[in-house]
Order: sequence, then C-alpha cells, then structure tokens
Amino acid sequence: MARGRFAPSPTGPLHAGSLVAALGSYLAARQQGGQWWVRIEDVDTPRTVPGAADAILRALERCALFWDGPVLYQSRRTERYQAALESLVAAGLAYPCTCTRRELAHQPRARDGGPIYPGTCRGGVSRPDRPRAMRFRVAATSVEFQDALQGLYRQHLASEVGDFVLRRADGLFAYQLAVVVDDADQGITQVVRGSDLLDSTPRQIDLQRRLGLPTPAYAHLPVALDACGEKLSKQTHAPPLDERQPSPALVAALRFLGQQPPPELERETPALIVSWALAHWRLERVPTVLARGWEHPPVHEPISLASMQSSNAVDNTQTMN
Ligand code: GLU
Ligand code: ZN
Repeated sequence: MARGRFAPSPTGPLHAGSLVAALGSYLAARQQGGQWWVRIEDVDTPRTVPGAADAILRALERCALFWDGPVLYQSRRTERYQAALESLVAAGLAYPCTCTRRELAHQPRARDGGPIYPGTCRGGVSRPDRPRAMRFRVAATSVEFQDALQGLYRQHLASEVGDFVLRRADGLFAYQLAVVVDDADQGITQVVRGSDLLDSTPRQIDLQRRLGLPTPAYAHLPVALDACGEKLSKQTHAPPLDERQPSPALVAALRFLGQQPPPELERETPALIVSWALAHWRLERVPTVLARGWEHPPVHEPISLASMQSSNAVDNTQTMN
C-alpha cells in the first residue's frame, strides 16, 4: 500500500508554502488509497520554536488534512540515528572530520550553498584536539533517479556535493541522515515535497543504498515564492495561514498545484474542499517549474507515482507496493 508523508520543521506556524507540500503529499497518497503520515522534523533542536509543532498539527486538522499513524518526532529518535551512523562507520562509510566552517570557506560551493567538502579528513582528522563531526563517504559514481514531476535527475555527489555531514561537531544529527532513517522506519513509499529538496535527494538515495534501505518514489512540487521571488517559508517570515479562513487557503494551494477548483469552492468547508480535491486530483497538472507567486502553470506528460518506486529501486531488493 502507498504511504506518503508530510515532514514539517517546527520553526514556525504552517504557512501557504508548507500547506502546498502538505496538501500535495496528502492528495498523492490518498488518491491511491494510501496512507498519509506526519513527522515533526525537530532534529535541529536549537531552531525549533516552542509550540510550533502543535500549531502545525492543529492547522492541518483545521484544513481537514487528517493523518494516519502516530506523529513521529525526530528529537526523540537520537538512538536510531546513532545506530545508523555506527553501521556506516563499521562499514568504513563514515569518518570523523575536524575542519571548521572557516577552513572550508574558500571551497567551491554546492548548489545548496554549502562548501563542497574536499575530503581533508578522509585519511584521518587534521586536528585531533577538536570536536569531531561525522561525514558520509559519498559514492564515486553518479546517483540518478526518476522524479514523477521533474523527470530524470542526476548528481555526481563526489564532485557536486562532497562527503556531507551526518552528525555535527555539536552532536546534532543532520537532516540528511534523519530523513532517510525516518522514511524507512515509517514505511514511506512515496515522498512528495518542495523542489527546494530535489538537490538533497541523491544524497538521501546514496545513504539509503548504503544502509540497505528501500528508495521511495519521489515527486518534487513547485515551491511557492512570494512577490520578491523569495521562497515562502518560515525562515523568510511568511505569514501563517489565517486560522479562521482555511478554505480560501486550501483553494489557493490547489490552484498553485495546477488543479482547477471552481471559485465557489472557497465558500465550502475544508472537508468538502479536500474531498473535491481527492476526486479531481491529477499529479500531471502540477507545474514542474519553480513558480513565481501564484501564476497559472503549464501542463506536462503524466507519470504515475505508483510506477515510480520500482523504477527507482534498482539497488534494492525490497519493493513496497
Ligand atoms: N523538514 C523539511 C522542511 O520543512 C522537509 C523535509 C522533507 O520533506 O524531506 O522543509
Ligand atoms: Zn575535515
């Protein structure tokens, strides 16, 4: 059975951009008769805003987006991440690194803005007196996958990203490791999320393969940008959804996802809007570009998410459907 998920970071309330990811992942999973789970990505505890996780969950309920299973909190899963890290260390796939941000400041930049790690500590740490981060020894070959919306995506991790951090020197586990362990533990078969994470996916697939975990199907949605072209996110202080008016926000999110809700739907209850959306959802209508504002999107060839997972699972013996 298909199982999707929504994995917000509790750095602020649900806003228009995260509603798009919530709704898109919900509809893609439910329309296949699948489940939809929620995970609170509070692995980066210093960035967690008290009360934000509850506010997000209540906002989902007000939008009639009800989830299955228990809500998973990353902050309670340190032991699982530690076990995964240890298995990578045992396999020679993770190693300690004592390089500081300043020492890496002059390295070429990866697409996500971080320095491409030059492998300084691959053969042993440069400064044994310092606290150690743990890095993943990335594949020497390219990682490629089929995204249900964005098509074939390929990345040569060694030259485009470099060995990336799994556990920071301050002891916090990195998102890339946590998300891979959690998607597997929650039995997630399809990941539908913002295309700002497209570039993280090859790292996650490389980790999945090295940890012997299945690779889910992926669909990366357009990311909502505000009038200035900034990603609408909690960090850029996007306004939270108007709590009293979830219906217009849901209809706007549907339009952003390329669906064609009739204007009068705005006056209906969230439950009715969601059931309309389930009856009419077409993944192939979702625009593939990073849309600016809430413009009307182009239409492209349909690909079914259900067929994607097996095509991505080349290195895996486990299939979930
Ligand atoms: N926690 C991430 C965010 O809120 C999403 C991670 C994911 O969907 O894999 O941007
Ligand atoms: Zn180093």
